[in-house]
Amino acid sequence: MTQRLGSGSLVIATHNAGKLKEISALLGPYGMKCLSAGSLGLPEPAETGTTFAQNALIKARAAAEASGIVSLADDSGLSVAALDGRPGVYTADWAERQHFEGPAGRDWYMAMGKVEGLLAEQGPDVDRSAWFSCVLAIAWPDGNQAVYEGRIDGSLTWPPRGSLGFGYDPVFVPGGKDKTFAELEPAKKHAISHRADAFTKLVAEQFGA
Ligand code: IMP
Repeated sequence: MTQRLGSGSLVIATHNAGKLKEISALLGPYGMKCLSAGSLGLPEPAETGTTFAQNALIKARAAAEASGIVSLADDSGLSVAALDGRPGVYTADWAERQHFEGPAGRDWYMAMGKVEGLLAEQGPDVDRSAWFSCVLAIAWPDGNQAVYEGRIDGSLTWPPRGSLGFGYDPVFVPGGKDKTFAELEPAKKHAISHRADAFTKLVAEQFGA
């Protein structure tokens, strides 16, 4: 049987303030006091996995072992059917600007263009199906762990549309909608997103809600 969180402290294994805020708001109502790995001075492990689940577990396990407190991590990304699931776990890396291309940093327009370029190489009838995944992993200091996988299916459009959201949102049209994630009101995106799907599964199993 899966171990349960109960109430108490939970380390969120992220150094991203936005993610900490979002996850704290989702789990606060269940009595969880969320602490960030950054504020505890925990190191960020290398994400060497080849699946979202492996990377989420690497981050959650590292935080649980270093802090002695049950820890939660997430990993997410975009998979494109015609690209055999790429960029997948390398979604953020595809946006990484190389030094010779200007200042270091992430360029989402470049990343969306790279995906579109690879699709265009396959011709006008290419399958444009894609999905976002989000995996949440919980690791307990005693070695127990639990994994929840969320997904939303849709298709890729070009050129990008909309200015809301982040990352690949302007080219992703969720199934059954005609707007991109970047054109949808945030509340509408959050109600159907891969992250919402994973959290629904976590909350159902951990809190019976
Ligand atoms: P990570 O989970 O922080 O490693 O991020 C993976 C990358 O996937 C992000 O940097 C985004 O580019 C992309 N991604 C994950 N979720 C979304 C989303 O909801 N919209 C757009 N891009 C996303």
